[in-house]
Amino acid sequence: MARLVVLGGGVAGHTAATFAADWLGKEHEVVVVTPNSKWNWIPSNIWVGVGGMTKEDVTFDLAPVYEKAGITYKQAKAVSLNPEGNGTTDKSFVTIEYTGQGKAGQSEEVTFDYLINATGPKLNFAATPGLGDANGLGEFTVSVCTADHADHAAHELTKIMDKMRKGERQKILIGTGHGMCTCQGAAFEYIFNVEHEIRKAGLRDMADIQWISNESFMGDFGMGGLHMKVGGYVVSSRIFTESLFAERGVNYITGAHVNKVEKGKVTYELLDGTTGEETFDFSMLIPPFAGVGLKAYNKAGEDITDTVFAPNGFMKVDADYTPKPYAEWKASDWPRTYQNPTFKNMFAAGIAFAPPHIISKPMKSPNGTVINPTPPRTGMPSGIMGKAVAHSVCDLIKKGPSAHLHEASMAEMGAACVASAGKGWLDGQAAAMTVYPVVPDFEKYPGTGRDTDYTFGEIGLAGHWIKHILHYLFIYKAKLKPFWKVIPE
Ligand SMILES: Cc1cc2nc3c(=O)[nH]c(=O)nc-3n(C[C@H](O)[C@H](O)[C@H](O)COP(=O)(O)OP(=O)(O)OC[C@H]3O[C@@H](n4cnc5c(N)ncnc54)[C@H](O)[C@@H]3O)c2cc1C
Repeated sequence: MARLVVLGGGVAGHTAATFAADWLGKEHEVVVVTPNSKWNWIPSNIWVGVGGMTKEDVTFDLAPVYEKAGITYKQAKAVSLNPEGNGTTDKSFVTIEYTGQGKAGQSEEVTFDYLINATGPKLNFAATPGLGDANGLGEFTVSVCTADHADHAAHELTKIMDKMRKGERQKILIGTGHGMCTCQGAAFEYIFNVEHEIRKAGLRDMADIQWISNESFMGDFGMGGLHMKVGGYVVSSRIFTESLFAERGVNYITGAHVNKVEKGKVTYELLDGTTGEETFDFSMLIPPFAGVGLKAYNKAGEDITDTVFAPNGFMKVDADYTPKPYAEWKASDWPRTYQNPTFKNMFAAGIAFAPPHIISKPMKSPNGTVINPTPPRTGMPSGIMGKAVAHSVCDLIKKGPSAHLHEASMAEMGAACVASAGKGWLDGQAAAMTVYPVVPDFEKYPGTGRDTDYTFGEIGLAGHWIKHILHYLFIYKAKLKPFWKVIPE
């Protein structure tokens, strides 16, 4: 019997574990180590953050689902990896620390034949003083990155809307809270949902709404922007995005590194080296992401974290990490199998893998401050990677070590993103965008780096319905309800 341990029960890990359990059957064991007792459909946190959904609408208990799937579930967080074992065992193991199941604080060493690291991001609020806070409930700014954060954001939003009703004008600041954030799409959705709710409440003239982002131009989205077909024309994401902001009367600041947050005020540095301040009554700023801080040790107990993980804490995989100038970046730098190059029984999927470099053009202010978005690894690519890696591990277990590894390069896959711009069956809106490939390939698609036949965008009510349907569909799939396997990632 072989044992596959999956770290993380999010989009990539849950996909990997559930498919692997199905493909391996009872002959082998699949273990999931994840610190939360609930699964969260993160994209719908946006609607929790404006009071349009509850925490309960976007989460469900993992234990019964894993029991049904025959998966061993450990409510714990992984702390360190010993891929070669240690002085007493040759077997690879991961050290975990329980967070629930009546064993909180207890440690355990879980041996594995194969490991999939799908631990996602550490929400690195600490990178910017005053941003969010350690207990997750926002010191000066709020967040929508978890269901609890989003619930808190909704309460804070209600408070400022009450003030508007009493005639007090309110200032809202939404965007990214550091020069090296990713996930601009989530902040983009949130600002439009907030604007929509305020307009629906008849309070739009009482609110000044301001966007702040580390993107060097509107619509970069950490992908260097894109050219997409809109209504038959090829339009840059910059024009598409700027027009959405103009239509809603939302001002924007781009190329900003927020370096400090205080009560009601952020300070920032811009790409031209100048500095500025913005005041706010309500602010949601996305934190930068880092790896979750796993350590790695060799058999002798020496620290080999630098061998297994990149400096940002994400796991090294089969990418080309050779430092090279922007002009020499290639689609082929991006990983295909997500296998760790040193320890072949370990893989990483979703946000947990270390990208070879960013996708957007690297930028620095004259003061040397790096201000550029880091690459997005959104839901669809994360799910696709999780499934491909599970497939590889199952083949390695069933066919032996020479089995062919499955591939899912972000330079060869597309992604669909439906960004809500306001909830409502009749007055809702969403910007639906597809991009192919996620990482531009300028050799294959000279000019824009992407195939414009498969890269398109549209905004309207239909997009909102799709977003709503996806909410139910993905929760249905994650609960492993009948025919879950035929629903695409
Ligand atoms: C507000 C918001 C809205 C978004 N909207 C969209 C959208 O509309 N469309 C889209 O495609 N993408 C969207 N995304 C991005 C999407 O959520 C991510 O791409 C996706 O969740 C990444 O999957 P993952 O499995 O890598 O990480 P996650 O889904 O974050 O899962 C990581 C898991 O690892 C667990 N974990 C953490 N530390 C440890 C540890 N030490 N040991 C074990 N487990 C650990 C976590 O608890 C979690 O369960 C959004 C993101 C945010 C924040």
